[in-house]
Amino acid sequence: MQSSFVKYDPLTVHYEALLNTFANGTTKPVEWRIKQLQGLGLMLQEKSDEFEKALFEDLGKPAIESHITEIGFLQAEISHTLKNISKWTKPKRVSVPAAVQPASAWIRPEPLGTVLIIAPWNYPLMLCLSPLIGALAAGNTVIVKPSELAPATSAVIAKLLTEYVDVRAIRVVEGGVEETTKLLEFRFDHIFYTGSGRVARIIAAAAAKHLTPTTLELGGKSPLYIDETVSMAAAAKRIVWAKFMNAGQTCVAPDYILASKETLTLLETHLHDAVQELYGNAVKQNPDYGRIINRAQFDRLKSYLDDGRIVVGGESDAEELFIAPTVLADVEIDSGVMEGEIFGPILPLIEVADVDEAIAYVNMNDKPLGAYVFSENSEVRKQWELETSSGALTFGAPVLHLTVPDLPFGGVGESGMGAYHGKLSFDSFSHQKAVLSKPLAPDTLGPTIMPPFTALKERLVRNVLGKIR
Ligand code: NAD
Repeated sequence: MQSSFVKYDPLTVHYEALLNTFANGTTKPVEWRIKQLQGLGLMLQEKSDEFEKALFEDLGKPAIESHITEIGFLQAEISHTLKNISKWTKPKRVSVPAAVQPASAWIRPEPLGTVLIIAPWNYPLMLCLSPLIGALAAGNTVIVKPSELAPATSAVIAKLLTEYVDVRAIRVVEGGVEETTKLLEFRFDHIFYTGSGRVARIIAAAAAKHLTPTTLELGGKSPLYIDETVSMAAAAKRIVWAKFMNAGQTCVAPDYILASKETLTLLETHLHDAVQELYGNAVKQNPDYGRIINRAQFDRLKSYLDDGRIVVGGESDAEELFIAPTVLADVEIDSGVMEGEIFGPILPLIEVADVDEAIAYVNMNDKPLGAYVFSENSEVRKQWELETSSGALTFGAPVLHLTVPDLPFGGVGESGMGAYHGKLSFDSFSHQKAVLSKPLAPDTLGPTIMPPFTALKERLVRNVLGKIR
């Protein structure tokens, strides 16, 4: 028997529910927002085992690494937001020019409405929930679309969010291209996308149809420059850590190293030793090292292993989706591994004559998400800071900038647009509403800037008002 009920597409049901929740003001009180953030915090605390298990299933992530880079990171972000939310949500008074006085003016941050968060697979929990923290703190209703390529984590997020946050305001839509394409037909008030530049163009084009603003968190080849002024052993250890965590599948991982021939010769040995120190001789058996997400990524990465002389690593196992932490020397800049973002555990060493050549090479290419410099030479550091453009620049600490909540996290040019973390996450999902209040008496406008324009008003406008702003 045919049902007499009209069948609604489930995505439309989610979307309309969120529009209604936003319209009826549920998400506006700061107390509601705090409760959601506390719910997220509690979920991470009580269900960390489930998340760790899912992350291991999807990416072979060691539990401690999951804690450092996903769960713990989110807990810190939640604490920071809870600590500051009262301050961030308060209207901020601004000064009023003398010509407009008497009046008062302030900025009131207000939620944008219903927003969409689309996440990638490499940090599949953190990159769903980190923007969600900002979206909820700002008082929005949210659809979260986790990555279908990390299905275990996606399923846990979908299941647990319904238990810990207000489902009237937060929905999870699981799925891939088909579901995302459908979602993109709706008019959102903001779309927050993390992933590749190729897909970002699809997202931006769909958003443009509704004039929806977007934050695009993308990737690219993040360079690392090192010179002879630093301790090679100490630097190599940090480089190896930043590059090979999550088996190199980190948007801000150093993609390749630029250095002089002499520095590279020294560094090779230290990189070799640092890989051994962090991961031992039998890396495949080491539970502290992860796996490649899928066969397609594995095959792509494996094809790069012939692009240079292997300093350390080079082993792979398709069955296990394992590629050892690999350093490649004598790499030509026109080889496959240097074409696009590597996004895996392969680190090419590229020889340059000096810092000027390194900077020229970086500036010839797309603006990177991160640029990392190891040098004690203040002139060299200044050159990188003033002569290159990247989402972030760190001296001596690749990747670590993203743990500083007051530093904007985002790209520039091909590595993305917009930034978040800390207050900027709140700002990304807020509208800064300008409010001005001016009493009707005394009338300061009639005698100054309103017609009829007398000679006195002209003198005032030309000689006085503009100068007393
Ligand atoms: P991706 O672009 O393939 O997928 C990301 C999301 O887009 C997924 O949720 C997916 O379902 C969706 N998607 C894929 N194809 C789509 C389509 N045709 N239409 C609509 N939606 C679609 O990205 P990825 O491979 O998952 O991620 C890798 C890239 O992400 C790398 O370039 C990496 O540097 C970048 N990244 C950036 C950051 C950052 O914070 N800047 C963090 C992680 C990854």
